[in-house]
Amino acid sequence: MEGPIVDGSGSADGPIAFIDRDGVLNYGRNGYVNYPHELVIIPGSGSAIARLRQKGYTICVVTNQSPIMRGLWTVERLHSIHSALRRQLLDEDPEAQIDIIMTCPHRNRDRCGCRKPWPGMLVKANNILRNQNQPNRHIDWAGEKPKPWNQLDIMVGDRKSDMGAGWAVGARTFEVSDRLGLPQVIDRMLDDNDPGDFYDPMRW
Ligand SMILES: [Mg+2]
Ligand SMILES: [Zn+2]
Repeated sequence: MEGPIVDGSGSADGPIAFIDRDGVLNYGRNGYVNYPHELVIIPGSGSAIARLRQKGYTICVVTNQSPIMRGLWTVERLHSIHSALRRQLLDEDPEAQIDIIMTCPHRNRDRCGCRKPWPGMLVKANNILRNQNQPNRHIDWAGEKPKPWNQLDIMVGDRKSDMGAGWAVGARTFEVSDRLGLPQVIDRMLDDNDPGDFYDPMRW
């Protein structure tokens, strides 16, 4: 199966906030979030998205969902789960619109370029949102952090693989606890002078 799966569209004149899903916008579960009714947003994540939008950010969710390639459930199920996510965020704040959701359906052994920490989902979203045509990049994990597309681009996640994907596109990276999610770092994200959390891809 080709990936990533794209849900939504939009265009970005300003910075992009790349946001992991489970443990950041909604509570993760042992196993996976397998049904729409299992999806519960972390309180405050809707208002945090609204604040990012007010600041000019385009909102891009980037999520690894290997149950699809494991044959546990389908792309249709994925879309129903994402409808629940979008609805709950909008219920909390009517301005909490997600522009685009990128999903990697693969397992490690599929060796795709989109499963985080590989930045394929971010590269494709950048191409769509900024009308570019950049190829998937070669990543030198031991080299310098790449230059960002926009100095204010952000990647926020609860795992090192999220930090890796953000690092690989030069974004400011913010790591959260999976119980606190996006609200934990929203004030920092909105501070243009906050460089994000230090992250060295060679140290994990
Ligand atoms: Mg996560
Ligand atoms: Zn993938």
